Amino acid sequence: MVKKIRNVIITLILVALAIFFIFVPTSIDKSMNKVTSVYDGGNLALYNTLPFVADLHCDMLLWDRDFFKEHHYGHVDLPRMKKANMAFQVFTVVSKTPRGINIEQNDDDTDQIALLSFAQLRPPTSWFSIKSRALHQCRQLHQFAEASNGDFRVITSQNELRQFISDRKENFILSAGMLGLEGAHCLEGDINNLQTFYDAGVRYIGLAHFFDNEWAGSAHGMKKGGLTDLGKKLVTKMEEMNIIIDLAHSSPQTIDEVFALTSKPVIISHTGVKGMCDNQRNLSDKHLEEIGRRKGLVGIGLWSTAVCGSDATATAKSIRYVADKIGVDKVALGSDFDGALTTHFDVTGLTLIMEALIAEGFSVDETELIMGGNVRNFLLKNLPVN
Ligand SMILES: [Zn+2]
Repeated sequence: MVKKIRNVIITLILVALAIFFIFVPTSIDKSMNKVTSVYDGGNLALYNTLPFVADLHCDMLLWDRDFFKEHHYGHVDLPRMKKANMAFQVFTVVSKTPRGINIEQNDDDTDQIALLSFAQLRPPTSWFSIKSRALHQCRQLHQFAEASNGDFRVITSQNELRQFISDRKENFILSAGMLGLEGAHCLEGDINNLQTFYDAGVRYIGLAHFFDNEWAGSAHGMKKGGLTDLGKKLVTKMEEMNIIIDLAHSSPQTIDEVFALTSKPVIISHTGVKGMCDNQRNLSDKHLEEIGRRKGLVGIGLWSTAVCGSDATATAKSIRYVADKIGVDKVALGSDFDGALTTHFDVTGLTLIMEALIAEGFSVDETELIMGGNVRNFLLKNLPVN
């Protein structure tokens, strides 16, 4: 009898664990990456003539989603990228987020990604080490490329990008990804880890995410300070290594200090602008203008905190603002797809952005630049040559 009860209890525990590990990660993904409306077509003929649709920021690697299967939830997978005529997506690595995340003020005491990594049964090292979980995500993108039969590749240099552009002219089904980090905290305070992440394929790094770290103050941190001494060394070394500096989420002081210390173009991979949507998350005119002077790139987002609206028109209006202030050659898409947020549409709805841009008065040629040409041109200049 005792044995029977024990067996029933063990079976119940195993079933509960199986349910937890099989269903919980997917249900978190579904509940956090929502789409509010079903895409209903649009001017596909014109959109499909775009040679290089590109986006600067997507957090898909955080979720356990089969890259090769089309999903009815979340924002990006390879079949949907192909449907969306998407040539190039930056896949960004999110490695630590605080509980109760908000744009005003967060400390670094809690670590939601540790729990997620456990629920996803990612390698045990990634439950405890931020660096290890970030490198795991980097490896995943390379594994996607290896398993794609040549349909998808990871870009790490100007030459690879040039080759990709030329190959895609012959075969428009091809698409590519690049790796970026969202927050330098995953270097775990050791500047030597810059080389480790470079070797893993990372080509841009956002200095801070939602909390202040060893390197830089965040716009949403407790103190919102600038670069630390270590952070100054980091940005200098990043410039030397041709790793692009991403100032998304950085505090205003961090942005000022990066400008004082560096001379190369920088990006804001996913943002809105205060001139259209005034909150702590978004970029001031002063910083926007300096990015313009440096021939940098500003990726405009699709979610409501970025553009104070939730449809393609809101994004197009912020893009118009940036283009008028610093030039149409310096603005791009920074969707933040799969960044634990709700968007109006998934990647297959990007055609709606093109239509909204045309409604904002952009020419088809200008639209080509905004929808990806600017990302292509920027990376052809600013990635390492080889
Ligand atoms: Zn972000």
